[in-house]
Amino acid sequence: MTIEGVESEPGEGAVGEFDVVIIGAGPAGLSAGIYARRAGLECVILEKGVPGGQVLTSPNIENYPGFPEIQGMKLMELMADHARRYIEIKEGEEVLRIRGGDKFEVTTTSGRYLSRAIILTTGSLHRKLEVPGEEGMTGRGVSYCATCDGFFYKGRKVVVVGGGNTALTDALYLNSIGCDATLIHRRNAFRADKHLQESIAKQKIPVLWDTVVDEIVGKDEVTGVKLRDLKTGTSREFQTNGVFVAVGEMPTSQLAAELGLDMDQGGFVNVDKSYRTNVPFVYAAGDVAGGIRQIVAAVHGGAAAALSCFEDLMNPYYKRT
Ligand code: NAP
Repeated sequence: MTIEGVESEPGEGAVGEFDVVIIGAGPAGLSAGIYARRAGLECVILEKGVPGGQVLTSPNIENYPGFPEIQGMKLMELMADHARRYIEIKEGEEVLRIRGGDKFEVTTTSGRYLSRAIILTTGSLHRKLEVPGEEGMTGRGVSYCATCDGFFYKGRKVVVVGGGNTALTDALYLNSIGCDATLIHRRNAFRADKHLQESIAKQKIPVLWDTVVDEIVGKDEVTGVKLRDLKTGTSREFQTNGVFVAVGEMPTSQLAAELGLDMDQGGFVNVDKSYRTNVPFVYAAGDVAGGIRQIVAAVHGGAAAALSCFEDLMNPYYKRT
């Protein structure tokens, strides 16, 4: 679609105009798309990679209602297929900048879009350990995705670092595909769900408590980790072929910062209960907006953001200046 009066710069692709542009195709973005389209809004989802978000890296989901047990990848495939019935998902199209004004102008790697509203569902990224060896060994023994890389470690020793739901799910998955997994946690108690803790005990997966990784060791590939016992202060090397890092998430909030959205200290976008941000006609949902980082919460947030957007566009109770 070409907009009158808006020139497309060479190589910048087509210009489209929408009621709302949704940025990010994880559970929140897909849900926002379904709800926005069904409300009658013209919209598009822009996704820099493939639809699915962080859930793609979850080997097994056991708490999404209606699906007692489903692979993260499968669940997201179903959600994306469902969303495509209503809305176009532009894959591999990264948003480079958003300018405010009479309308928002969204510039991507291959196009420009004008929009009356923006729903940010940009998700989060894996937090790193920030220890020597981690960066250099990423892809050579260090991984942030058990589902993607676990297969390569079948029959080999791996460690999983972290004590949350992701770490325990990853350890169980790696164990189930034939890896010799050990969990390393900096405290003496997990924060993961009780159900997962029970499974770890049942599967007899070893846990190194009160222990941190100080360094990842290896030349061409990982051969071990330097561990420090926080109680005794002693260090030792632990032989392993793989290090799966599962120490939490950081919000992807650069675009939010550019738009001038209020954020908390961790960089999560502040939203009200209707998922409105401090900037009129900008909404945020899913991991980028913090809260309980669960798929059900992201799906709810996306839907609520879309309905708030519909309400504001059709029946605005405040006016942009
Ligand atoms: P998380 O719940 O934030 O847990 C991160 C874990 O990493 C914590 O145990 C933390 O230790 C540890 N950690 C943080 N920084 C560290 C560091 N620098 N060195 C060593 N350890 C460090 O993150 P998550 O497990 O990725 O989960 C993220 C969100 O997704 C959560 O809300 C979670 O419930 C959700 N999730 C849910 C499921 C599910 O329901 N099945 C599955 C996966 C994720 P401390 O405990 O000492 O702080």
